[in-house]
Amino acid sequence: RACFRRHLSGSSRGTQGSMSAWVIDEYGTNAVLRYAEDVPAPAVSSPTDVLVQVCATSLNPLDLSMRGGYGVRRDPLSLLGGSSEFPLVLGRDVSGVVVDCGVEVTHFGPGDEVWAAVPPWKQGSLAEFVSLSEYEVSHKPQSLSHIEAASIPYVANTALSALVNAGGLCEETAHNKRYFLITGASGGVGTFSIQLLKAWGAHVTVTCSHNAEGLVRGLGADEVVDYTAGDAEQRLETMDRFDVILDNVGGETEQWALTLLKSWSGSKYVTLVTPLLSSTDHMGMLSGGIQAGLTVCDLSQSLLSSGVFYRWGFYAPDGPALDDIRTLVDSGKILPVVEAHFPFSQVPQAFLKLEQGHARGKTVVRGS
Ligand code: NDP
Repeated sequence: RACFRRHLSGSSRGTQGSMSAWVIDEYGTNAVLRYAEDVPAPAVSSPTDVLVQVCATSLNPLDLSMRGGYGVRRDPLSLLGGSSEFPLVLGRDVSGVVVDCGVEVTHFGPGDEVWAAVPPWKQGSLAEFVSLSEYEVSHKPQSLSHIEAASIPYVANTALSALVNAGGLCEETAHNKRYFLITGASGGVGTFSIQLLKAWGAHVTVTCSHNAEGLVRGLGADEVVDYTAGDAEQRLETMDRFDVILDNVGGETEQWALTLLKSWSGSKYVTLVTPLLSSTDHMGMLSGGIQAGLTVCDLSQSLLSSGVFYRWGFYAPDGPALDDIRTLVDSGKILPVVEAHFPFSQVPQAFLKLEQGHARGKTVVRGS
């Protein structure tokens, strides 16, 4: 098993209580990423903590945003104290091995192979060890390697939260709500969501660029619309109206895609691209929260007259949801989509890859 290890000193064990990690000490570009071997290692500090040795992680657009200072107020507790979050460890996904557990942990024990998505208010997984609560962790699918498993948890928890909490769906209802549109389907969330909705028996239309058509069709997409072709909106307008739209693109998409929903039948527009954290960054927690709330209220109100609902979707930590995904993965209904992987020593290169955009699935960082 290859987990993240020290690669500068060559020693496998460092100073007691410290670990190697990629950290940032200030917000900025890739230049702020720093490899260190003296980062305080997390320990089990609450009865429900699970300490995991990291074997692989994957990067998400959130890592780029957090590197640049986005969502400084993502931790509600930061309101209470003015303490700095540096050195900050990025990385939201983890596939690894449990090394220690709090006394109340019942579902996991040392040696268990697990996967999880680390909440953005906790230190991340670009490190030898990461601490999670039992509720956030799930046993890893047996059919996947750590590299493959690390590509799924954050996008899975996000897609499930968006579709279930915001979209009001579940496996039993998704096939009744038959027509789905996923925008930005070739990226991390999109490639996962196509497979989840197909496993739930839905009809899935997607937008992506022309060179991603083979990928998304291979994952089960029924209709593929090339958004770069110039006639995407017209093509979508000729199709049956949708029950749910999952928007991974945001921006102008909202202006035209809302009209593609069925009227007066409970249809929902769920967008993952929300202004909440950027508003609170710029205006403070209270004013930014109010401003963002007003924005969503305004939009929801204006759409009520057309009989459609507008919702924001957010990542939410949820180990039991990953248990359900494990079943779909181990039965071959959901495949990992790993576009590229880099060793732990090449985290800056992995960030550069992410920064180039045009993701086709996920970029993974692996133990060497
Ligand atoms: P990725 O970067 O992995 O994927 C984005 C994909 O969209 C790429 O494949 C890109 O490929 C494609 N794309 C870009 N522009 C368009 C367009 N106009 N129409 C169709 N496809 C397009 O991102 P993720 O899948 O991880 O996340 C999607 C969005 O959701 C991001 O903005 C992310 O920040 C947000 N997000 C929000 C969360 C929340 O809690 N609210 C949680 C997770 C993600 P190409 O450019 O080649 O077309």
